[in-house]
Order: sequence, then structure tokens, then C-alpha cells
Amino acid sequence: MHSSNSTAFADDVRLSFVASLYQQRGTLFAGMIAHVVTTTSVYFRIDDPFYLYASLALFLIWLCRNLDMMRFDRLDKAHFRLHDTLRWEKRYVVGSLVAAFTLGTVCAHSLVVAQDPFAEMVTVSVTLATMISVVGRNFGSRLNVDMIILAACLPMMAGFVLAHDPYMILMGLLLLPLFLTTRSMANGVRDFLFNSVTAERKTAILAERFDTALNNMSHGLFMLDGEGRIEVANLKAREFFHIDRNVNLSGRALKAALRLGTRNGLISREYFAEINATLADLIAGREHRALMRTDANTWLEFSARHRGEKGVVLTFEDVSARIESEKRILQLARFDNLTGLPNRSWFRELVAKKIGKARADQTSALAVIDINDFKHVNDTMGHISGDKLLSALAARLRSFANKKILVSRFGGDEFVVFLPDIGGEADLSATMDEIVETLGGTYVIDRHKLYISLSAGVAMAKTSDAQIEDMHIHADLALYEAKRRDKERWCLFETSMDQEYVRRQRLKTDLRDAIRTHSMSLVYQPMFNPEGTRIVGAEALSRWEHPEFGPVSPAVYIPLAEEMGIISELTHSVVAQAVKVCATWPEEMFVSINLSAHDLGDRTIVSTIADALDRNALAPERLQLEVTESGLMDDIAKAREILSELRGMGMAIAIDDFGTGYSSLSYLNLLPLNKVKIDRSFVSNLTEDPQKLKLLRGVVNLSRELGLEIIVEGVETEEQLTTIRDNNCADIIQGYIFGAPIRESVFAELATRLSRSAKRVRPQPALVRA
Ligand code: C2E
Ligand code: CA
Ligand code: CA
Repeated sequence: MHSSNSTAFADDVRLSFVASLYQQRGTLFAGMIAHVVTTTSVYFRIDDPFYLYASLALFLIWLCRNLDMMRFDRLDKAHFRLHDTLRWEKRYVVGSLVAAFTLGTVCAHSLVVAQDPFAEMVTVSVTLATMISVVGRNFGSRLNVDMIILAACLPMMAGFVLAHDPYMILMGLLLLPLFLTTRSMANGVRDFLFNSVTAERKTAILAERFDTALNNMSHGLFMLDGEGRIEVANLKAREFFHIDRNVNLSGRALKAALRLGTRNGLISREYFAEINATLADLIAGREHRALMRTDANTWLEFSARHRGEKGVVLTFEDVSARIESEKRILQLARFDNLTGLPNRSWFRELVAKKIGKARADQTSALAVIDINDFKHVNDTMGHISGDKLLSALAARLRSFANKKILVSRFGGDEFVVFLPDIGGEADLSATMDEIVETLGGTYVIDRHKLYISLSAGVAMAKTSDAQIEDMHIHADLALYEAKRRDKERWCLFETSMDQEYVRRQRLKTDLRDAIRTHSMSLVYQPMFNPEGTRIVGAEALSRWEHPEFGPVSPAVYIPLAEEMGIISELTHSVVAQAVKVCATWPEEMFVSINLSAHDLGDRTIVSTIADALDRNALAPERLQLEVTESGLMDDIAKAREILSELRGMGMAIAIDDFGTGYSSLSYLNLLPLNKVKIDRSFVSNLTEDPQKLKLLRGVVNLSRELGLEIIVEGVETEEQLTTIRDNNCADIIQGYIFGAPIRESVFAELATRLSRSAKRVRPQPALVRA
């Protein structure tokens, strides 16, 4: 490829050299005139007709050569092959050869035959002059040069030799160096020209290749000189800025090209100044790479390569697609999928930025907002509706998002708001009221009207030293407090809550230890027949005496243990202890154990209980299990399966706290129950409120129809007891009226006493207090 190219290239140059031979008409004509005048003047001087013929011959030779030249002119040289070039070179050589030979012969004739000083002088001079002119005119062909020199000088030298004069012979010999120098000069000129033409051609080819490469680049390119003026702009650069090929950019400032881009609508005017500034940075070497926005959807990435004093090469490409996908990825990484609100990590970054820019006197607040009973929405309407509610709530929340309020969703139903600059507590109060007011209220989801209320916890801090983590913990504590206080929709964090938090953390650690080391104890609350004459069984209730805080209520630590996932460990130890103790009681008495929803999530509870019964040889009929409906909803099928198995083994299953949940009645049928434990809220103002009694009787009748036994708990007064008894509302009664929870030893003594007693005396409450 390379060699054939270079041959083609040499042929091309050779043709141009041969063509140059055919172009010198003027000098050829001038030469002919000189030859004709010379020979004619010699003829007139010495009257030798040879010169007249020579004159005619020289004229004719010129004429033929001239005609041939005109023929050459008419040829289409574009399709010339090497042999054509060589043929035309030979034709030319023949012409000049004949002319030179004729001149040489005229010289020889003057020297040998005419022997006239004028004829010798003038013909030799003209012939030598003609030969020398070869250097300037006929150097294009080495063959031509050699032939002319030979054709002219051989007859001339022969003439000198044949003149038979030793001085003439010497002169003839002295002409030899002249011929040789002339030849080498002509060749030198040709080689020099050949080399420079070749170099020029090569440069042209390189330039063309460079152009092709530049214009086929996928990047736009501007090459700028040391003064920042455009030296080269490739096609892509022109295309991008819609600059016509005919517009000459070289020597113009880059800004001029940009201005054309702006005029052609490729660069938005609003970005022009920024682009210019960024480009100035690149050109000055302050940056090496920069991203620029040229309009709403277009991004260019520029790179600069400096060439020292010579300037800089700027390349750029359209990276809009890349930026777009990066934006999409960022969107996914930064925003919550469901609501489109900033997610936890992005929110933190946004907050950090705000804190970074805060004034010294600025105060900020962080609010955690939670939907009350959101779990209920999910449970009753399904997760899809739950998601719709969250989106709708987020849409309302978004209406608050502005420079002064950052909003986000942290997951679940937890929304977090940051107020970087609040005027004071009054301002905060107004804003929070507005937020909670706006977000709460009625939502229509899947054609269902939902009334939503919210709770929020707020923490305040000096913005400059706000620690988002701490504020969040504080706001969470305040939220917890707001939920606890029930009436208040939002609550501001106070230091006491933090102490409460610290206490809670401490409780958690200590609770774990207490459960693991079995250092919790059990008390037993007796259950009586309605007459109060007989103990039928007892409920085992755990107790925890904290070494520092004293007794901790189960209402505190049971939810904690559930939250920590260690409730089943507690159940395990309660089962072991209660079953062991019950085996020592009179045979007709059962022990009742509270199970947590967590216990019914897997089958370990079955083997735990079976093992305990086996170990203590206790009949399963003497064990009662209490379950509350809350929490069972998560996996009701599993709970039902486990309870059925336990009931199949002979244990009694009671539903606890009946009447406090959402859909209690449906549970009566769904679970394999033997007993219903009616919550003490049914009993509390039974005597004052006739509606309550109606309700109680309804529940009791329904339960009895389903074949369930009735336990009424929380009976405290004589009146309550009488009403319950008169209306036949209980099969078993548990409450302070008959006995509070008591230590095992006390219970055992009482149980034995009552069991043995033939008389059916109702025990005095004072006797059984722990
Ligand atoms: P619960 O299962 O409803 O237990 C009855 C609670 O009512 C006991 O409170 C008992 O002391 C109290 N009580 C009994 N009679 C009366 C009365 O006449 N009037 C009033 N006002 N209260 C009465 P306690 O022991 O504080 O237990 C609270 C709750 O903690 C229990 O409610 C039970 O749900 C849970 N709990 C207690 N021990 C355990 C346990 O070992 N395991 C599990 N899973 N839960 C337990
Ligand atoms: Ca219970
Ligand atoms: Ca209960």
C-alpha cells in the first residue's frame, strides 16, 4: 500500500516536471529567433548557403516542437499513466535533441569549414548560451539535459578538434568542464525542486489526513493560539454551534464562535456569561475539565490541553444523555420512590448545607411526624391503599417545602421536616400547627374516606451547632411523648424527655440481663367462681424489681421486651416456672399464662410448653393460655395453626383483654378458643352506665352461643360483682375484689386452705393482698 502510494506519488511529480518542459514557449521562441538571426547573419557575412539551410532547419524544428507542445496542451493529464509521461518526455527530448544537434553541427561547420572568426564566435556563443539556458528551462528531465548537452557539445568539440589547431583543441577540451558543470547544475536544480515538491505534496497529504481525522472526531475541537484566538475548529464544533463552513473562524476569539451559537439558538442567553467564565478558566489553565450547560437539556463537557506558549486545545462533547442518566440515578439515590420526597441520606445532606450557611443567631427545629394508627390502615385496607395515603400525605407536605422548610420521608409513615431558621417558639408553634393541621384531616383513598390524625415531636437547636442525629433522637422522644399525652398533636422536646430516654435505654440493657439470668419473679392472681367460694385457677404475672429503679410495671417492660425481640425468652421462663408451681397446687386448679403475639409466630412455643408439662407431669388441661388479639393480625394463619395444636393437646385458650381491639367479634370465630376474658374497661363503670351493662350482656350471650366460657377481669367493687352475678355475666371472676396478684407461697397456702375447706367462705380481700 505504502510503496504503491509512493510510486503513484513519484509518477505524479514526474508528470509535473515533464509538463514544465512543455510550458516554456516564450524562451523557446526567443531561442529560435536568436538561432535564426545568428545563422542568417553569418550567411550574409560569408555567403555560405549552409547557414541559410541551418536557419530554415532551426525554424522548422521550432515549429514542429511548438505544434507538439500544443498537442500536449490538449491532452487530459488527469488520466496520465507513467508510460504516457515517459512517452511525452521522449518526444520532447527528441525535439530538443534535434535542435541541439543542429546547433552543434552549425558550430562544427563554422570551426572546420567556414573558419570565419565571426561565424565561429557567434555560433559557439549562441550554442553555449542555449546549453546554459537548459539549466533554467529543461532541468525537468535528466534525459533531456544529458541529450542536449551531448547533442550540442559533441559536434562542437569535434569542430574544435578537427580545426587542426592545438589551441583550438585545447579550447574544445576546456569546454568539457563547462558542459559537466552545466549538467550537474541542471541536475542539482531538478533534485532540489523534486525534493521540495515531494515535501510539499507530503505536507498536503498530511494536512488532508489531519483534516479528515479532525472532521471525523466525535468531539468538537477548538485549537486556540496563545492569545485565545481560534486557529482550528473542526466540523463537529461547527455543527454543534450551527456555524456554516463558509464562516471563517480562524483568528477570531472563541467568544465570537459562542456568540454565533447563541444567535443560532444553541446556547441559551441565560447561560452565556457562565459559559464564558468557565471557558476563560479552562483557557487560563485554572481548570482542565468543565461541565457547561448550554440550554435546559444540553450539557457539554470541555477538556483543555495546554500547549505552553502556543495556546490550548479545547475538545468538547455533548454529555446530555450521560447527565440525564446520572440525574436519574441520583434521583433514585436521593429521593424516596413512593413519595418523591428527599430520602433520609439526601435530607441529611440538605440539612448539613443549611447548617453550613447558618448565621450565628439562627435557631432551627427538626420535626418528626407520624400518622396515628397507620398500621391499622395497612391492616384493614391493604398496603396498596396505605401507600396511596402516604403519597397523598407527602403531596400535602410538599406544599410546605421552600427555602425555609426542608421535608423528607424517612420510611414507613415517618416524615421529617427541618426548619433552619425559626423566629422563636411562637413562630415554630404557628408553623407546626399549620403543618399538622394541613396534613391531618380527611383523605379519600380508593373511594374510602379516611380520617387521619398525626402526632409530631419537635426538637430545637441553635442552627450553627445543630447535630441532626441528636435532634432526631430528641424529636423522636417528643413524638413518643405527644403520642403518650394523646390529646396534644405535637410536642416540643424537653430535657426531661431525654432523661426518660436515657432511662429507657438503661432499662433495655438491664431487662435483657434480668430475663437472661432469670432474675424476674412471678406472682399469681387467683380466679374464682362467681360466688367467690372456690379458686379455679390463677394467672401468672411477671414482676421485675429493678436494682436501682425499684419495681418496673409490666406495662413498661413487656412492650420493651417485644420491641427488643426477647419476649419469647421471658415466656419460656414464665412457662417453666408457672407449670412447675401449678403441679404443686390442688388438682382442680389451673395456671393461666400470657402469650405474646411474637410467641405465636413460630412453633418453638409448642415444644417449650410440651417439655414443661412433661418435666412436671402436669396435665395439659391444667394450663390455660391467654392471647391478645393485637399483634396476631400480622400472621393470623400461623397463630391459628399453633393455637389449634396447643388446644389439641388439651390446653384451654382464652382471648385476653376482650373488647379493647378493633374487630374482636370476628376473632371469636377465627381462633380455636375456649374462653373469653372480658377486659376491665367493660367493668369499670358498669354500675353507673346502663349502656355498659347492655354491651356486656350482649358480648356474654354471643360468647356463650359460641360455646365459650366467660372470665370477667378487673372486678373491684361489691356493686360490680353483684351486677355481674345478678345478670349471670361470668363463669369465672378475676379482680381485686377477690384478690390481687400474690407471691407463690401465699397463693399456695390460700389455695390449699380453700380447697380443703368444706365451708364455702368468701375470703377477705385483705387476706390475699401481696
Ligand atoms: P393482663 O393480662 O390483662 O393482666 C391483668 C392485669 O390487671 C395485671 O396487671 C393485674 O395486676 C391487673 N389487675 C387484676 N385485677 C385488677 C383489678 O381488679 N383492677 C385493676 N385496675 N387491675 C387489676 P399487671 O400485672 O400490671 O400486668 C399488666 C399486663 O402486663 C398484663 O395484663 C399482661 O398483659 C402483661 N403481662 C404481665 N405479665 C406478663 C407475662 O409474664 N407475659 C406476658 N406476655 N405479658 C405479661
Ligand atoms: Ca392476661
Ligand atoms: Ca387482661
